[in-house]
Amino acid sequence: MSVSPISRISVILGDITQQQVDAIVNAANPSLLGGGGVDGAIHRAAGPELLEECRALGGCETGEAKITKGYRLPARFVIHTVGPVWRGGGHGEDNLLASCYRKSLALAESHGVTTVAFPAISTGAYGFPLARATLIAIKTVIEHLSHSPAITKVVFVCHGDQALRMYHDAIRELVHEPPYAPENSGGKIQDRDRTSYDITPDIYEQVAGQLRMIEIVHGIRLVNRDALAETIAGVVKDRGQASVATAAINSWVAVNSIHGETEIAEDVIARILRHATGR
Ligand code: ADP
Repeated sequence: MSVSPISRISVILGDITQQQVDAIVNAANPSLLGGGGVDGAIHRAAGPELLEECRALGGCETGEAKITKGYRLPARFVIHTVGPVWRGGGHGEDNLLASCYRKSLALAESHGVTTVAFPAISTGAYGFPLARATLIAIKTVIEHLSHSPAITKVVFVCHGDQALRMYHDAIRELVHEPPYAPENSGGKIQDRDRTSYDITPDIYEQVAGQLRMIEIVHGIRLVNRDALAETIAGVVKDRGQASVATAAINSWVAVNSIHGETEIAEDVIARILRHATGR
């Protein structure tokens, strides 16, 4: 049985150079010849042999990753990845940052690495907003782990309290509250007088997306997912109620330690829908 992605993730406050993992990831610059921040700390801790090996690599493109030995580090390998410089968000920064996490994990796997530590790539000198970067980091890693049982542990190493808080917020947002939260979440449900509802494509898409995220986060498969999305979208009257319903499904999966393929029984669905719609 594969272990759910979320239980293979941990977030700690600390120094990445001290991590006892198979590989640590370096937020490098394209030259791979060392720099400040976490890059400088890794080169100092690994010793001059690391720079020697890096010289032979011929640099690295943004969003890509290369691997070297770890030398004097506790970690056997260093995976060097180049994050995007933040230029306002309209220059593909999100995709490039996600690519750093994906390529690093793929490289780790191809070298038999099972435990990996990441810094908050791009959030120092490269200026990527921390909240946005941590959400991308967690989401991308969870997605990767959901189809990759080989990696058993991913540690997000935070260099300060603010980063730690951001990672915890990101996990809460992705796991405990499904994504695509409605604009009026936390507020009053609007449009109370409506009594019959059409299945609107955007609510169906929201629910289906949230159910897919629940599958990924918990490493399960909902056999009746599409039918379930249709049922929920047909009963709730807005995005707020849809979110309440999928959050309840998320809790049900967590509380009952559901794993593998599961079909949610009709009485459970009925109870969840009564809760979501207040009927
Ligand atoms: P980038 O150029 O990709 O922004 P930086 O090294 O400037 O890279 O910063 C990336 C992140 O690494 C920042 O959030 C910074 O606080 C953090 N960091 C710096 N030193 C360490 C360290 N020793 N261990 C873990 N994280 C670190």
